[in-house]
Amino acid sequence: MIQESARSGIVQKDKETVALIPEIKFGMMTPEDLEKLASVSRKYEIPIIKITSAQRIALVGVQPEHVESIWDELGMEPGHGLGTGLNYIQSCPGTSVCRLGQRDSLEMAERLYDTIKPLGLEVKLKIGVSGCPLQCGEGAIRDIGVFGKKATGWTIQIGGNSGLNARVGEVLATDLEDDILVETILKLLVYYKENMKPKERMYRFIPRMGGVGEIRKAIGLE
Ligand code: SF4
Repeated sequence: MIQESARSGIVQKDKETVALIPEIKFGMMTPEDLEKLASVSRKYEIPIIKITSAQRIALVGVQPEHVESIWDELGMEPGHGLGTGLNYIQSCPGTSVCRLGQRDSLEMAERLYDTIKPLGLEVKLKIGVSGCPLQCGEGAIRDIGVFGKKATGWTIQIGGNSGLNARVGEVLATDLEDDILVETILKLLVYYKENMKPKERMYRFIPRMGGVGEIRKAIGLE
């Protein structure tokens, strides 16, 4: 029986092959990344290459005996949280290329990744970052959503979800400059980590703590 993990892969329907999902932060790639993915896909005859909703590329239908060689040849880290941890930060391109961009969403996504990853949260956490209120980063339906406005700063929404319990996140804070945004999300996640039940998703945690208003008070926003 294949042991599932981010490194050994996700067992597929046939129970004989796995999917490997290298970490591709915010969907940003280089020609070298693409060449390596193409090279291992040809060499190991990987039948399906799929772009995921988390802005990554999944190699699907990998034979388990090829897994370690593929990771070695890719030189990339596994990117799938398999249940808990920071599952992903999705980001739109923001001011780096989008003509409607108002804030640098890619830079903010990188800062949030570096801040959140070391927290080691034992719960699924999905984050969307967008460079303007149009929210192409889909933060409104993620555990934490962030979008920027040029004049006033960043807005944080929490408790969104796109799954079985679909809902739009509620506004936690508005008009935050970069450092305050990162600091506020860190405070929120420390509070979450200290008070959540095992694997309790944000959309369940918020009502149990008395609503967004109570969370705002608990982390010093009011
Ligand atoms: S959210 Fe705004 S900045 Fe980001 S891609 Fe969409 S339109 Fe551009």
